[in-house]
Amino acid sequence: MPLCRSAGFISCAPGARRSDSPMNCFDCHATDHVSSAAVATCRSCGSGVCGDHAYAFPQEIRALTGLGVSTKPLSARRILCGLCARAEHTR
Ligand SMILES: [Zn+2]
Ligand SMILES: [Zn+2]
Repeated sequence: MPLCRSAGFISCAPGARRSDSPMNCFDCHATDHVSSAAVATCRSCGSGVCGDHAYAFPQEIRALTGLGVSTKPLSARRILCGLCARAEHTR
């Protein structure tokens, strides 16, 4: 269901707290039915995530070198939502 289309949805009421972000946190909406501004996007499923629901993981960067593949000394960052983080990192 679209987040803001139904009449009477609390975040759409006049005077309700508005965020400048065009996207809200999917986990906040799905679990608590509140609208929180997203600060990042899940790299796996693409949902918006707020600071409480964003999980950052290091991601090794590899590059082709002359005779093979080398790992760069610095890791990049990979942001996941709670569900994707559990799915990828639960054994
Ligand atoms: Zn959230
Ligand atoms: Zn996700």
